[in-house]
Amino acid sequence: MTTQSADSKKTALDAIAVQVNACTACGLHKNRTRGVPGAGPADSEILFIGEGPGFHEDQKGLPFVGQSGKLLEQLLAKIGMNRDQVFIANVVKCRPPENRDPMPDEIATCTSAYLFKQIEILSPKVIVTLGRFSMGLFFPNAKISAIHGKVKWENNRAYLPLYHPAAVLRNMGLMGDMEADFRKIPELIKEHAQRNKPPADDPGSKSGGATGGDENTPKEEPPQQLSLF
Ligand code: SF4
Repeated sequence: MTTQSADSKKTALDAIAVQVNACTACGLHKNRTRGVPGAGPADSEILFIGEGPGFHEDQKGLPFVGQSGKLLEQLLAKIGMNRDQVFIANVVKCRPPENRDPMPDEIATCTSAYLFKQIEILSPKVIVTLGRFSMGLFFPNAKISAIHGKVKWENNRAYLPLYHPAAVLRNMGLMGDMEADFRKIPELIKEHAQRNKPPADDPGSKSGGATGGDENTPKEEPPQQLSLF
């Protein structure tokens, strides 16, 4: 999947979007106005994963279009980026009623059907989780107050757990931490390039790829499945 062209990735992502909008695999489809599969360029190096659509997202079929989306855009601007450069998705693709938390079975059903496939297609260098449900997919049993901003490298990919923008809007005391954590994103892209640089003093190397032989070695494995519930 990592060698897929941007065009073939877009085709595969578009197919998932069509499936999401027809999906009845869990009860969340009953109240959905529009499914929210995710949005962004197919060749994005960074994937943000939020929790689930809210009212505005459900109306528009797009992720992070309300106040949380505005904050996300402001934070991206502070690191010299905009939302057109990143792919933004959610753990569940349909709005939970009254914005309740998604249930474990809804998360398990939706992630295995869609989010994990999106990750496989996008093959991002950095996955940024927003909030505890997204974090829980990759950092089982962790507490977000303890691990926000602490990077994990796995399968040649960085995982960066951040607070959800809505949590920051509810408690502006978290803004300083959120801004500091966000500043790690461009550093991780640089670090990814460093980790995948062929050794300069090894002209006999035929691999032309990663340094190999340690935890940095790129290898495609399916994303970790849910184990937080
Ligand atoms: S939340 Fe996911 S699994 Fe449930 S109906 Fe929507 S798309 Fe299907």
